[in-house]
Amino acid sequence: MRDIRTLTLGQLTEYFVSIGEKSFRAKQVYEWLWSKQQKSIDEMTNISLKLRERLLQDFSINPIKVDLMQKSIDGTIKNGVKLYDGLVVESVLIPTETRTTACISSQVGCSLNCEFCATAKLKRMRNLEVAEIVDQVVLIDQQSKMHFDRPLSNIVFMGMGEPMMNYNNVVDAVRKITQPEGLGMSSKRITISTSGIPKMIKMLADENLKVKLALSLHSAIEETRNDIMPFSTKFPLTDIMDALLYWYKKTKSRITFEYCVWKGINDKDEDIQALIKYCKKVPSKVNLIQYNSIGEGKFDKRNIEAEQKYVSELEKAGILITVRKSRGGDIDAACGQLANKNV
Ligand code: SAH
Repeated sequence: MRDIRTLTLGQLTEYFVSIGEKSFRAKQVYEWLWSKQQKSIDEMTNISLKLRERLLQDFSINPIKVDLMQKSIDGTIKNGVKLYDGLVVESVLIPTETRTTACISSQVGCSLNCEFCATAKLKRMRNLEVAEIVDQVVLIDQQSKMHFDRPLSNIVFMGMGEPMMNYNNVVDAVRKITQPEGLGMSSKRITISTSGIPKMIKMLADENLKVKLALSLHSAIEETRNDIMPFSTKFPLTDIMDALLYWYKKTKSRITFEYCVWKGINDKDEDIQALIKYCKKVPSKVNLIQYNSIGEGKFDKRNIEAEQKYVSELEKAGILITVRKSRGGDIDAACGQLANKNV
C-alpha cells in the first residue's frame, strides 16, 4: 500500500477531490503528517471516522523504527534504524555542552567510492524517501529531549550516502524540516555535506534554502584526490570551484572544506600550499577532521606534526581552520564509520 507521506500537498488535494471530499482536508492531513508528526491515521481526530476509514483502506504510514541504539562513553548515540523494506541506515546524535547535532543519512549505502569511508563499501542500495529523512530528525530530536533535556539544534547530512545523489528527496526533506507547516526548524542550522558534484551544487544554490554547504575535499591536488576518491576523476577541482563560486554568489554563505590528513598521502608542504591556494579562491574555512579507522592500512597512519603544520600555515595565510574532535568512535558512530556492522 502506498505510504501517504509520499504524496505532495497538491497530490493529497487531488486525492480528496477525487473521492468527493473538500480540498481543505488535504491541508489538515498534511499538517498531521508533517507538523504534528502523527504516525497513525486513526489519531487524526479532526477527520471524520468515515474518512479515516477510507484513508486506512487507501494508504499506509511506514515510519522508521529504531533497531538498535548504542551509546558511546562520550554521550554520542548511534541508532540503527530499520526502514519499511527491512534495510537499515544509521543516524547519530552528537551532544556537546551547548548543542545537539543530528548526523543523518540520505541513502542506504553510497554510490561513491571514497577509499577511506566504510559506507562506500556497502554500495548504494537505494535512496531514502523524504519521510525517512525527516523521521531521522524527529527521532534525534526526541532522543535529545529525553537524554539531554533540550531539543535538537543542528542537522548535518553527513551520515550514510551522498545527499546530492538523492537530490530531490533531500531538498524536499529540508523544506519539510524548515517550513512552518512542517517542523519549523532553522535552515541556518542545517549543513549539507557533499563529495562535490558541481552541477548539483549549482542547482542547490538556486533553491534558496539558506542551508550551509560543506565540501569533502581531502586534497586540493587533482591526482591525489582522484586516487583516494576515484569517482572524482569525473569532477575536476576547477569545475568544483566554479560551482562553489556560484554557490557563494547566490547564497553569500561561506563554504566549509572537510579535510583529513594522512601520512604519506597528503602530509607534504605542497599539499598544504595547494589547499591554501584553493581556499583563497572562495570565502571558506577548513574543518580538519580526525580520521576514524575503518581498517584500511593505507589510511591508518596519522601525522600529527603535519596536522599542526596545516593549522599554522593556514592561519598564517589568514584562513580559518578548526580541528574537529572525533566523537563516538567506540561504537563506530564517527565520520566514515557508518557501515551497518550490527545488521
Ligand atoms: N557523502 C557526503 C556526506 C557523508 S561523509 C560527503 O562526502 O560529504 C561525511 C564526512 O566524513 C565527509 O567529509 C567524509 O569525507 C568524511 N569521512 C569519510 N570517511 C571518513 C573516515 N573514515 N574518517 C573521518 N572522516 C571520514
